[in-house]
Amino acid sequence: MKQILLCLEPSNLRQAIAQWLQNHEYRLVEGTIDSASFDLCLIDRPSLDRDRVLILDRKRSAFELLPVLLVCDQLESIDLQGVDDVIKLPIDWLELQVRLTNLLQSRQYLQAFQAVERDRVDAEYESVFAALQGNHLGLQRLVESSVIGFVIANFQGQILDANDAFLALLGYTRSELRSGQVRWDVLTPPEYQERDRQIIEELRETSIFREYEKEMLHKNGDRVVIQTGGALLSEAEETVICFVLDVSDRKRIEDERQQALQQAQEVNSLRSRFVSLVTHEFRNPLNVISGTTQLLERYPDWSAERRADCFRRIQAAIARMLELLDDVLLISRAEAGKLNFAPAPVAIEAFCDQLVEEFKLGSGREHRLIFTVQGECGQPALDEKLLRLILSNLIANAIKYSPIGSTVTLELMGQPEAIAFRIRDSGIGIPIEDQPRLFEAFFRAQNVGTTPGTGLGLAIAKQAVELHGGSIAVESEANQGTTFTVRLPIATTPN
Ligand code: ATP
Ligand code: MG
Repeated sequence: MKQILLCLEPSNLRQAIAQWLQNHEYRLVEGTIDSASFDLCLIDRPSLDRDRVLILDRKRSAFELLPVLLVCDQLESIDLQGVDDVIKLPIDWLELQVRLTNLLQSRQYLQAFQAVERDRVDAEYESVFAALQGNHLGLQRLVESSVIGFVIANFQGQILDANDAFLALLGYTRSELRSGQVRWDVLTPPEYQERDRQIIEELRETSIFREYEKEMLHKNGDRVVIQTGGALLSEAEETVICFVLDVSDRKRIEDERQQALQQAQEVNSLRSRFVSLVTHEFRNPLNVISGTTQLLERYPDWSAERRADCFRRIQAAIARMLELLDDVLLISRAEAGKLNFAPAPVAIEAFCDQLVEEFKLGSGREHRLIFTVQGECGQPALDEKLLRLILSNLIANAIKYSPIGSTVTLELMGQPEAIAFRIRDSGIGIPIEDQPRLFEAFFRAQNVGTTPGTGLGLAIAKQAVELHGGSIAVESEANQGTTFTVRLPIATTPN
């Protein structure tokens, strides 16, 4: 039975949700977010604001997906850090069921994956420790084994003996060992020397040293990540026997596990960003439609002009929603590799000119739009539909994120093997720290304020550029303006 922690202020809502969960075979757990054991947490806005640090800490240290589902009545100005999904009030119980199932399933997949990996690593160690804990025969077998390195060394760093596995691990031969050139201290990078000195103290005091991880230098200069542990062999001679285990693989597995976890979390946060942005972006036009139709209903005697204005607003809202839906469909088709690429000769100068003219009549009518051409452009083979997506998204952004009255330029540049476009504005710019994620779907920079948008335009533009085998780059600084440069390689056909 899945365990659900409710971080909801006492209310009818809390009671209703608790009742519903119990009727649907979930178990409610008591406690707080930093200590309770649970599979999923349902939280409301005040608790989220209060406990966010605890949530983030818990998520980091748990090293597993601990889904947090936010229940709230509006999404505006909510910081969704730490939240994996959102459900709006009033609660639609079917929606709650779907969201819970999705989140819990993601958690289960991840747990299963981690369990498999953990078992593998544990099994590797069990045999070594069983042997070291007094099972002499086992120890003998291990020393002879070709898998685990064994070394007898003295406190001065001299290696007196080692098995083949150890020599192979660090790339030395037995005669090099005999000649004295294989020394523990020499094979230890400087930053681990101090730790090794402490180990000798530990050995003097307790006769053993507990395993720890360090790096050693391979003969070819590479670093090898090892785990070593051991025991005092002779107090008088100050000799010690240690095992040396190559854990580069385990490290790699851990890294991969971390990556998988990160990916899963990214998918989740992508979904929440999707939910919040799209619901938010849909809400505005929906509000316009519902508000305006109510007015039309309530005031049937309004003048024809006033009614026409209402219908225009409704149509614009519908157009905005259709545009959004198109964008979402487009990006999912692009990510599934299903966008068509059909290059054909395009009269590129006329095309750009026309596009800029369209903007001058539409969203760019309050800006100064300038179009310039350099070099010979001819009729390059490009996909006109995709090209329109690229340029109109970039021009629309330049207009949207720069002040009314300022200048936006589109430069078209004919180059020997490419056609390049530069879109320049002197607007709000993009903070440096946001630039690496700019082309991710649903990502928006922190300085957008109340400017509407879904964060899809650039992701779409990038996919369209990549279908052409081209590149897109950005240069920007907060408050200094932005320049996007797109370069599309071409096989030119003469005019
Ligand atoms: P839409 O999907 O409606 O285009 P959007 O404009 O927010 O929404 P993108 O076009 O993908 O999304 O842009 C992503 C983000 O990049 C923007 O939210 C904004 O933060 C930043 N950005 C893009 N172009 C500019 C620009 N010219 N000036 C400043 N910021 C920009
Ligand atoms: Mg945009």
